[in-house]
Amino acid sequence: MNSDIDKILFNKEEISKKTQKLANQIDCDYGDEEIVTVGILRGALFFMADLLRILNVKLLTDVMVVSSYDESDIVSSGKVIIQKDVSIDIRNRDVLIVEDIVDTGLTLYHVKQHLLDNGAKSVKICTLLDKPTNRKVEITSDYNGFIIPNNFVVGYGLGYANRYRNLDYIGILKPEVYQSKENES
Ligand code: 5GP
Repeated sequence: MNSDIDKILFNKEEISKKTQKLANQIDCDYGDEEIVTVGILRGALFFMADLLRILNVKLLTDVMVVSSYDESDIVSSGKVIIQKDVSIDIRNRDVLIVEDIVDTGLTLYHVKQHLLDNGAKSVKICTLLDKPTNRKVEITSDYNGFIIPNNFVVGYGLGYANRYRNLDYIGILKPEVYQSKENES
């Protein structure tokens, strides 16, 4: 285990089992419809890749790059910035957002509204993790993997200052890693 990690929450087998369960639900709900999946980068990179590979539903794939954090922060700035929008024409299409984690809910709230404003017929949300304690707006995932406590987690695509994304498990980052950064600034 990486020495900056306090505790592993989910190992790769648990993540893979949960991803398969979510894929089954999504396949079942959409049936023969063609959907547009929109992965939110960078955090959803690994989850999106693994989920899409096992989905049977017909799909078009796009990504958005969205940020609400400064690189070395562990709390959302509250300001959601779309750095890269969807390229596919989503008008009258069923869209499924694929996201790593919902925390305050601000990112998904804005992204969902943005996609609806751009003419999507429907917008559903699939998240791997949900931290319900910090919610600031009312938003719920249609498909959620794990509910987690209010700790800062990394791994399996989730990063801190762009580190740890490559870990094949999800774990709680030791507070001293970001506390030492806070003391530097
Ligand atoms: P929200 O807008 O719901 O507060 O946060 C969504 C975004 O914040 C996620 O896409 C993710 O990038 C980031 N985030 C929230 N909680 C965590 C966490 O525990 N770890 C990491 N690495 N990112 C988080």
